[in-house]
Amino acid sequence: MITPGINTTSLHRRTGAGKRRGLLETAHVAQGVKTRLPVLIAQGSRPGPLAVVTACQHGRELNGIASIARAFEHINTKEMTGCAVFLPIMNPLAIRAHQMDFPLEKLRYRHTGVSQNMNMNRAWRKNRTSTNSNSYIQEITDIVWKTYLKHADVCLDLHAWTDNSLSLAMGYKKHLSLLKAFGLPWFAVVESSYASGSCTWLACSSGIPSMICELTPQNMICPETVAHGERGIMNLLKFSGILSGEPERPETQYEFGPGHKEHVIKTDAEGLLVSDHRIGDPVTQGETVLSVLSLDSLKPVFEFKAPCDSLLFNLGGCPFGEDSLPSAVVYPGQMVGLLKQPTKMGSQ
Ligand SMILES: [Zn+2]
Repeated sequence: MITPGINTTSLHRRTGAGKRRGLLETAHVAQGVKTRLPVLIAQGSRPGPLAVVTACQHGRELNGIASIARAFEHINTKEMTGCAVFLPIMNPLAIRAHQMDFPLEKLRYRHTGVSQNMNMNRAWRKNRTSTNSNSYIQEITDIVWKTYLKHADVCLDLHAWTDNSLSLAMGYKKHLSLLKAFGLPWFAVVESSYASGSCTWLACSSGIPSMICELTPQNMICPETVAHGERGIMNLLKFSGILSGEPERPETQYEFGPGHKEHVIKTDAEGLLVSDHRIGDPVTQGETVLSVLSLDSLKPVFEFKAPCDSLLFNLGGCPFGEDSLPSAVVYPGQMVGLLKQPTKMGSQ
């Protein structure tokens, strides 16, 4: 069934408080499909800023979708000024195929020789050129840019790392107050620039304050992560003056500023990776972070002690690609952990 409101460019400019659900359709058929993206709009009773929130540009990244569903349900439009537009499933084909990109995700992990970009978050351009012509992802980014994003006053793009990594909010230093207000306990200042062709890159280079958030894990829903995502969305709307009230921030936030120290942990032995820690745990200098046990004797054949007080940011045998199962059986040379040293840590 087609929901009324397809490609109504004035959807977010209507007056009258309320919530609407519609579909945004791409302009042309590309790679065999014309696509319809779900659009959820929360319109306040007074005119004001426009926030655009995108999620699931990559089909395995699901916690942003659930966060949007919760935030949309809980927004009270009678108390809103302006408008929030949510595009919760930017990649409706990849999500159905349980893969990051459409038509193929294997270009991420293996050398194929294919030169076509299939990563949606590298396909954002103000204007189409011959080098980024007709493709499924280009059709989607074009219509979203033209219809919503270029009109935005603030933008949030939700992604997800695998469960080897901690969730992380990221933004430019000039948007530090937005990043803090978002309220995730862990945030990093983007050191140079967002990746060229990414949604946040295009928005920021067009003067729209924008941030990105990785909501761990992929493929599955984690309730704590969804709660972080929902709070982040509500906080962003409060920070932008769309919702009333002050952003709710956690007691402790870890800031990873430019030049923060990292320690990559690589095993030099084969074995079973074990640890008493979970990602997000603080570790103190000299503490054993992880060990690798021999598959013959179960004796430790590799041990890593924290060189400084830091946060366990990654833990696990790095998968060989999002399409491979994670495993605690690891091999020499493999990255098995990452420590990050916050540049600031504290409350408010
Ligand atoms: Zn992503």
